[in-house]
Formats: sequence, C-alpha cells, structure tokens
Amino acid sequence: MSDKDCLFCKIIAGEIPSEKVYEDDATYAFKDINPKAKVHVLIVPRKHYANVAELAKEDPAQLAHMAEVAQKIADQEFHGAFRLIFNTGIDAGQTVFHVHAHVLTGEKLDE
Ligand code: 5GP
Ligand code: ZN
Repeated sequence: MSDKDCLFCKIIAGEIPSEKVYEDDATYAFKDINPKAKVHVLIVPRKHYANVAELAKEDPAQLAHMAEVAQKIADQEFHGAFRLIFNTGIDAGQTVFHVHAHVLTGEKLDE
C-alpha cells in the first residue's frame, strides 16, 4: 500500500481528524476510535513503515522512542503501568498497515 492510500498517513497529515495525545518531529500519538481500555492510544512514526519488524530493521531508534512515549503516556494517564501491542499481519489482527503501537492503560488490565 502506498502512503497516499494509508489511513494513518492521512491522520498524521491532518486530512482525517484525530484526538492528539502527543507529538514530536518523528512521532504522533492519538486516541483509538474504538478503545479497548479506559485509555487506548495509538503511537505511530510519521514516516510510513508497514509493521514493527520493518520499523525495527529500518529505524530501531524510532521503535525505542515509541516505547518511551508509551511510558510517558502511562505516567500521565495512570501510575506508569501499560500494555504495548503491535499486531503484525492480517491473522494477528492488523488492519492498518502503517506500524502503530497500541498503548492500553488508565485502569487495571485483565490478564
Ligand atoms: P490494528 O487492528 O491494525 O492493530 O489497529 C488499528 C486500530 O486503528 C484499531 O484499534 C482501530 O480501532 C483504529 N482505527 C481505525 N480507524 C481509525 C480512525 O479513523 N481513527 C482512529 N483514531 N482510530 C482508528
Ligand atoms: Zn502510512
């Protein structure tokens, strides 16, 4: 899929509205439209990578940075506890092929 067809590229560009939680030069974070926890945030690199394995290979520092952003969000929204999920591949539930970290926090999560 090319960037121009990508939902999250459009959200990052502001062409589709989103509820911003955090942003910096390389990273954008916004509330998931269908939250699975009290706080459910998606963290994306501004640059388009299809999945976490591609991001890890091409820009490992950005992947590490996303973990730090997740911690920052969990510190603000809860007492620092969070779950970080990267669905990778259709059969794992990935529906948007622009890498995104799901941050679940804001409440005690089921095991
Ligand atoms: P995936 O299933 O690919 O791991 O996660 C995609 C996530 O994007 C889902 O949790 C879904 O609720 C969320 N999502 C899909 N479309 C939109 C949208 O237009 N805006 C926002 N904020 N989230 C979206
Ligand atoms: Zn994209």
